[in-house]
Amino acid sequence: MDKVLNFVSGQLVPPSTNEYLDKLDPRTGQKQKEVAASGSADVDVAVASAVAAQPRWGDMRPSARGRILVEIARRVRDSVERLGSLERVDTGKPGREMAQLMDLTAQYFEYYGGIVNSMDGEIINAGADYHVYTRRDPFGVVGVILPWNAPLHQAARAIAPALATGNAVVAKPSEFTSSSLVEFAKLAVECGLPPGILNVVVGTGPSIGPAMIRNTAIGKVSFTGSVRVGKELGRLAAERILPLTLELGGKSANIVFNDADIAAAAKGCVTAFTWNAGQWCAAGTRLLVQEDIHDEFVAKLTEHVSALTVGPQDDASYGAITTHAQYERIKAYFDIARQDGLTPVVGGEAGVETNGGDGWFIKPTVYIGVTNQMRIAREEIFGPVLSVIKFRDEQEAIAIANDSDYGLAAGIWTRDVSRVHRVARRLDAGRILVNEYSGGFVQTPCGGFKHSGYGREQGVEALAHYTQLKSVIIRL
Ligand code: NAD
Repeated sequence: MDKVLNFVSGQLVPPSTNEYLDKLDPRTGQKQKEVAASGSADVDVAVASAVAAQPRWGDMRPSARGRILVEIARRVRDSVERLGSLERVDTGKPGREMAQLMDLTAQYFEYYGGIVNSMDGEIINAGADYHVYTRRDPFGVVGVILPWNAPLHQAARAIAPALATGNAVVAKPSEFTSSSLVEFAKLAVECGLPPGILNVVVGTGPSIGPAMIRNTAIGKVSFTGSVRVGKELGRLAAERILPLTLELGGKSANIVFNDADIAAAAKGCVTAFTWNAGQWCAAGTRLLVQEDIHDEFVAKLTEHVSALTVGPQDDASYGAITTHAQYERIKAYFDIARQDGLTPVVGGEAGVETNGGDGWFIKPTVYIGVTNQMRIAREEIFGPVLSVIKFRDEQEAIAIANDSDYGLAAGIWTRDVSRVHRVARRLDAGRILVNEYSGGFVQTPCGGFKHSGYGREQGVEALAHYTQLKSVIIRL
């Protein structure tokens, strides 16, 4: 049986605990491999390796680091089959998504491998007697803690800018989806990344995460995951005044105005809540529809929903729910909705599938007649479940959209350009998607308002979050 080990100093190493966790296949519910159940001693060894390797990496010319990152991107594209097959089995996603996910992974390394060459400080005019400038220095060692919904893509989003700016990284993938990152780290070393610059420690959150935060050689942690764990890490980090980037959950509003292109919006709003089986932080799961087009719009939407295919096959519209706990959690929301007097228009209990065995599949589920106060409209479900809410006018749409603990993304569907700018300005969310609900681009900063987190990944902006700004003031 396959065992997923740690990757430290360029070598695969077993966990010091000598313990392993069972990893089940989401498509069958059967045991598929074992993954290292590492502990704090493994974190400390990985951090020591990163500390030893980092100075030489940090001192390299940015162009030399960039060349290695670009080579990593090339190798990821050449390894779609290997990396994709690991990720497909771990996550239960359909095979057809792998090329796109690996391409996105590669794009982060290309982008940051190139842009690092233009990461400059500024010269500040403080008068003729002074020469004043700023510089951006790496933190040294950066910890990266990751979720399971898009394993390598999420990893690349944090690791590429951290490495580009001269940091070494100790990464902790989700215990449910560790294989592709370990394989990736091996590949990165083959591309010339010095051993010790990217280390991967595999195991559960409580046994690794706090040990990363407490290790004083780590200068910054980037966490992508739930609000619950984000808050916990935030409290621990406060003890050390440790900077964090927190990329947390969402309950994003997707607003359809009565002047929208209804056909395009209906299609786009289905993708917004079903992509990756709804296991998407920015998923548009609160659909706000203007009341005069509500019935027509819901009819079109459910037509598209009914055409989706869900299952283990490679060409399915979407695949399995990645963890059993998440599968049970989504199903529990069907009861919660029922207690609020709701019956799904499609999906719900009737859409739960087991693939003839113990697989974890849930068909898209749509509730209408939802109010923004109901639990299914307020809580992140992280599954293919849509709450449709009616609104009267622009003012009310904005008020409902902003009446949420979260603020990760929001969608606007309209043909009125003035309205686009007016509404985009007033929505409390880190990403506004107009007439297309997508994941944005590697170049576009990504992050949350309110409980959805702080700090930004992606784009030039991320370079600032993986460096410390220093002013140098010279009296001439
Ligand atoms: P999670 O918070 O349960 O786990 C995330 C990571 O933290 C995992 O590696 C896990 O092992 C670790 N962890 C768990 N408990 C920990 C603890 N006590 N201390 C330290 N680390 C701990 O989240 P998840 O279930 O893996 O992912 C789903 C969540 O992630 C959703 O809320 C989703 O919205 C969010 N997410 C956010 C983004 C974003 O960019 N904002 C992207 C993807 C996922």
